[in-house]
Amino acid sequence: MAEKISAVKGMNDILPPESARWEWLEGIVREQMARHAYRNIRTPILEHTALFVRGIGEVTDIVEKEMYSFEDRLNGEQLTLRPENTASVVRAVTEHSYLYDGPKRLWYTGPMFRHERPQRGRYRQFHQIGAEALGFAGPDVDAELILLAASLWKALGLTDVRLEINSLGQPAERAAHRAQLIAHFERHADKLDEDGKRRLHSNPLRILDTKNAAMKDVVEAAPKLLDFLGEASLAHFDGLRAILDANGIAYTINPRLVRGLDYYNLSVFEFVTDRLGAQGTVCAGGRYDDLIVQIGGKAAPAVGWAMGVERVLALLEEQGTAFPAPAPDAFAVVPDASAMPVVLHTLTKLRDMGVQVQMHAGGPDGQGSFKSQFKRADASGARHALIFGADELARGEVTVKSLRDGAGAQLARPLAEVAAWGPSLQSAASQD
Ligand code: ATP
Ligand code: MG
Repeated sequence: MAEKISAVKGMNDILPPESARWEWLEGIVREQMARHAYRNIRTPILEHTALFVRGIGEVTDIVEKEMYSFEDRLNGEQLTLRPENTASVVRAVTEHSYLYDGPKRLWYTGPMFRHERPQRGRYRQFHQIGAEALGFAGPDVDAELILLAASLWKALGLTDVRLEINSLGQPAERAAHRAQLIAHFERHADKLDEDGKRRLHSNPLRILDTKNAAMKDVVEAAPKLLDFLGEASLAHFDGLRAILDANGIAYTINPRLVRGLDYYNLSVFEFVTDRLGAQGTVCAGGRYDDLIVQIGGKAAPAVGWAMGVERVLALLEEQGTAFPAPAPDAFAVVPDASAMPVVLHTLTKLRDMGVQVQMHAGGPDGQGSFKSQFKRADASGARHALIFGADELARGEVTVKSLRDGAGAQLARPLAEVAAWGPSLQSAASQD
């Protein structure tokens, strides 16, 4: 036998029945995005490396050590598998002058790539669902995005998340804060880890974002950016808080919340849980009013968030949240292969009506026993068996046997009148 080839480390296959949970989540997301009038955008998975270096910032975990970058051996271009999608959305919006006639609301879903140490909730290919509102300056849209996430949690049945918010102010305010932050960390340089020392002068704000528990005290004692905000920034923050308060959205203000990416200003927020260990952030976002210009577009404010699909699913599982497992409406039992032309003709009619039907397919040893076919019918979760026996077919009929509620009940149904009885096979779920 040839040597087996396995998947790349940290990159997962998602097979049934697991994939059904993904489809269920995606369906809810699509519905919620539509209810909020966010429209879907799809950008390439591969982009020029420069987009992320410029968009995310050079002194960030992502750009420093997590990107899958390589040279295209055919034309020498420097390319990167997208580690996140906001930079790509901004590039696309700019490239197509998409904001020419006003602000836009967009959402996306898809795989992202980061070379991290794989562990639960942290993979090298993972999936994000994101929402971005471009061209809106006010805190009302920041609030709308948070409410959108909250309605997603509600629709999914996710309860164990809490919201943390902060404001990063504007560049001038950050500069004033930065000077004092550097002074503070310089006084405590002995307590900084290697990353902290390196970032002390290049990106001290990022030190607040450390996951190193040993630095907790020095980080907590650091000057708070919120104390450096001017009137306009504070008004923006208060505007956001007022809407959240009025809508019963609970939150805490976390002054150490600075986000891992360089491009944020004003509002930043995270939905976090205590139930997934160190991988507790399930959704994170904020305002990035300066990113569009950085990427070469015409200045426009913007705000958005991204949620980690694997983490949301892990949390749902942790909570024991049920979701509807897919099962066909009916399973076709076919004792004799010679019936297949008629069987498939009937199944096609049923499927055209929206009935979900699984067919028993014969193997090299024939159709298999009646008993083994019924076992499969049961295992499929179908609510009905359609028995295409020779006697039934001779009468121009099929027997519909109930496998779930009122199990055992049988009805003879005329093949010529599928349209009349077919819909009765459908469960409420498959009628959606
Ligand atoms: P973390 O602090 O956990 O590394 P991050 O700040 O790097 O997260 P973002 O870039 O803000 O994460 O991405 C948004 C969301 O995407 C995260 O909150 C998380 O839910 C998810 N996410 C990020 N990296 C991974 C990963 N490697 N595997 C799975 N999910 C991820
Ligand atoms: Mg990270």
